[in-house]
Amino acid sequence: MLRLPLPEIASIDPNNICQLRCPLCPTGSGTIKITKSMISLDKFRLYVNRIPSLKKILLHGWGEPFLNHQLFD
Ligand code: SF4
Repeated sequence: MLRLPLPEIASIDPNNICQLRCPLCPTGSGTIKITKSMISLDKFRLYVNRIPSLKKILLHGWGEPFLNHQLFD
């Protein structure tokens, strides 16, 4: 049976909120139509603990990560 490798890198966006208005950014320009939210530390741990093979997590995406006050936790 073929066994696929588990991921070693994941991208988890801490939030999709930003105070800047970069015109080409869907978040900054307001063209993205998804609910604005921040991931909680509990939910972050839940996701990460399900993938023990992870070696690297990218903590940025469609928002300003430092607006999530639990980022350093
Ligand atoms: S998320 Fe990044 S690119 Fe988008 S508005 Fe904020 S700073 Fe600009």
